[in-house]
Amino acid sequence: MRQDIASVLLTEAEIKKRVAELGVQISQDYAGKDLVAICILKGALHFMADLTREIDIPLAIDFMAISSYGAGTKTSGEVRILQDLDAAIADRHVLIVEDIVDSGLTLKYLVDNLGSRRPASLRIVTLLDKPARRAVTISPDYNGFEIPDEFVVGYGLDFDEKYRNLPFIGVLKPEIYEK
Ligand code: 5GP
Repeated sequence: MRQDIASVLLTEAEIKKRVAELGVQISQDYAGKDLVAICILKGALHFMADLTREIDIPLAIDFMAISSYGAGTKTSGEVRILQDLDAAIADRHVLIVEDIVDSGLTLKYLVDNLGSRRPASLRIVTLLDKPARRAVTISPDYNGFEIPDEFVVGYGLDFDEKYRNLPFIGVLKPEIYEK
């Protein structure tokens, strides 16, 4: 698996440190509020598990699964809900937990969809942001790292459902996805 990685962009230690910082900030911002963290499956799974353990206030967790790229490396812009939330979010403070914002189309869809359910507030935390490729005006409220326009895998991010279990974020060798 590791032989398919061209370079390590973010090490396990760098991710851990930044996730802890985000946790402190989010704990301060949401103190005393009814917080629901929504993990966008599957890519945000690892980030969600680590981030919520760095948040030192009570919160609820929920999951939403949406369609992603499939075996390609570019988004179609068409988003489908594969699994919806368990609980209603009306009047609650909702934090969308995402792995990466690329074109922003997925996030725009989620913000429109969840926003229509009348939460008390709606914010986004993403581990990674690729601002170079933005197609719609949307920016995360909390961002772990800004990264260059490269296809990355690991720490939840996949290519063709593989590499999610790498503990770091790496750049996949182009020959893997150009096969
Ligand atoms: P967007 O709609 O912003 O273009 O794409 C968002 C989704 O595309 C992310 O949630 C993620 O699943 C996927 N994605 C975008 N860039 C990358 C990348 O560099 N690597 C991987 N593995 N997935 C990506």
